[in-house]
Amino acid sequence: MAQHSNGLHHHGYVERSALTHALSAAERRMLDPDEVMHSPDEVAAWLAGTLRAAMGLTEDEVAFTDETEIWLAESRRGETIVTGLNDGPTITAEAVYDSNCECERQLKPVSPTKKRR
Ligand SMILES: [Zn+2]
Repeated sequence: MAQHSNGLHHHGYVERSALTHALSAAERRMLDPDEVMHSPDEVAAWLAGTLRAAMGLTEDEVAFTDETEIWLAESRRGETIVTGLNDGPTITAEAVYDSNCECERQLKPVSPTKKRR
């Protein structure tokens, strides 16, 4: 599987608020991420899955084909991606340098409840 090439990974955050009321990047960084993603494929899949869940739709109903292409390209470039619904939630995949991040150093096992399918 393709890894992030440039020492980056992404943190996934889901906020209940609309984008206009979402946290700033600095505020978000203080929180524990809802998800940690290590490849562009994971980022795109997490964004699509989280957005679908927020809309209450299945993969058959909304595939996010075009969006996935954009998300893959953006996460390969190491960009932070923000999406979501007008009234919330706001869904953010924040690009983080491995060297700046505690979550990589701790290497704590992921609890089974955190892995959603
Ligand atoms: Zn991290």
